[in-house]
Amino acid sequence: MLPSKRYRLRPGKQAELPKMMLGTVCVEWKRCGRPTCRCAQGNLHGPYYYLHWGENGRKYKEYIRLADVSEVRQRCEARRRYQREAAWMRQELRELSTLIARMEQP
Ligand SMILES: [Zn+2]
Repeated sequence: MLPSKRYRLRPGKQAELPKMMLGTVCVEWKRCGRPTCRCAQGNLHGPYYYLHWGENGRKYKEYIRLADVSEVRQRCEARRRYQREAAWMRQELRELSTLIARMEQP
């Protein structure tokens, strides 16, 4: 999927997010660079949330609106959980196949 199509959300359209999303939600605090701004004293701007993910050997990052942060986080976690369970099931399947192959030997 193209990064531009991965996470693009209009207000009130959370249902259009994929059920499972690849990536991690990261938070950033920023300095704007103006010497007179509060951030120059260490009172940084933020938090800003970003989705980080890797695809086809490349790294991507996309801004997440505050209203979508918890939803995106949950969907990333759902994907991780699914991946863990799928890996576990593949392992079980391998072990079963080995067992069956052994039993079928004359
Ligand atoms: Zn600033």
